[in-house]
Amino acid sequence: MNLSDSGQESSDEKAFTIPKQTKDLRACQLCGFILTQEQWNKNSQCLNGCSADYTKIFTGVICVMKPSKSWVVKKLGNQRNIHPGLYAIDVQAD
Ligand SMILES: [Zn+2]
Repeated sequence: MNLSDSGQESSDEKAFTIPKQTKDLRACQLCGFILTQEQWNKNSQCLNGCSADYTKIFTGVICVMKPSKSWVVKKLGNQRNIHPGLYAIDVQAD
């Protein structure tokens, strides 16, 4: 019996994206989305469409699986349609 589906989330959720490693993490200065330096270099901008820069100065990390259902996302002042992944709780601008 195979209980797992193809790995696809329900259509209202975007793909879950997390840093590939714990070194060289950078957080988006606007939404706090965390990726590695290498991953940021591959993306021209934040997956949430922020035009902000990223910073290595941040504290606290939360994992958001379903932004549309997360009260933490709401508390941090982020949009409910943000990308699932790791988010910094407090981000300092460089
Ligand atoms: Zn962002």
